[in-house]
Amino acid sequence: MMNKQIIDGLIDYLTIMQYAGITEVSNLSVEIADKLPHAEKLIVSVPNAVAKNNSTEIQTPPTLTSTDSIESNKFEPNKLPDETQSVARETKNITMESKTKNCVGHDLPKEQDAADKLTQLELLSAEVAKCSRCLELAQSRTQTVFGAGDPFSPLLFLGEAPGADEDIQGKPFVGRSGKLLNDIITKGMKLKREDVYVCNILRCRPPGNRTPQPDEAANCKSFLERTIEIINPKFICCLGSVATKYLLATDKSIGQMRKIVHDYNGIKVICTYHPSYLLRMPAAKKDTWEDIQMLMKMMEEG
Ligand code: SF4
Repeated sequence: MMNKQIIDGLIDYLTIMQYAGITEVSNLSVEIADKLPHAEKLIVSVPNAVAKNNSTEIQTPPTLTSTDSIESNKFEPNKLPDETQSVARETKNITMESKTKNCVGHDLPKEQDAADKLTQLELLSAEVAKCSRCLELAQSRTQTVFGAGDPFSPLLFLGEAPGADEDIQGKPFVGRSGKLLNDIITKGMKLKREDVYVCNILRCRPPGNRTPQPDEAANCKSFLERTIEIINPKFICCLGSVATKYLLATDKSIGQMRKIVHDYNGIKVICTYHPSYLLRMPAAKKDTWEDIQMLMKMMEEG
């Protein structure tokens, strides 16, 4: 039986592919749709997508409405100084530019490659769902939180661990921090949440949202490594000190790791503050915007 997170990922992916106008994917979707309890979402969204397909920008399907921004705690690059506005305008073109390109204009994978990647993610997610390496977390979690977004995205955001909302919904970054991350992606980067992939160091919520322990991060490291290997992003943005510490094996602070392009197995990595920190310290949003600008420039340059 398919894991719910993978099913959601399949729906997101197939919808994106259909919006991109790749008709062969419709056949793939029919095959997979037979296995999907939410297939009606996919099928309903197809004709709308095809009808709108003259547009060069992907429109958010009516069934994917969980990433809307919020009125409070806005990430507002428009209120930053003029010199930063020009970067935002320049990078506005980091959206789907043709029917066969991803969010930064790279070719989408061939159908078989896409199916293989989704199968690998499904198998890994199923393995994670049964994991009990961290006894305390396995006993207290509602469910594991694997990852979400476009598995073919060149950009992966890496957070710390699921919180209460994520634990309940089974998706990463869906609470207040998630809404601020959405603002960073949509208002700052002019992308859509479903254009990027998002996951965490841990796939289970630590009780009381405490900081992950080193042994828990070590237990979950192989899942993270395999996720990154399958997604194969070109860029990773570490959100916060925990993601930075365990991905890059460092004890340096975010302040020391910012403004530097790091390397993880050939992938370019930048580090910035976690959205939950920005909610507590709004003054740091300016620093995060600088980091996101650096990321956008790197993505523009490939
Ligand atoms: S945090 Fe990772 S390693 Fe620990 S129980 Fe959850 S899935 Fe397993």
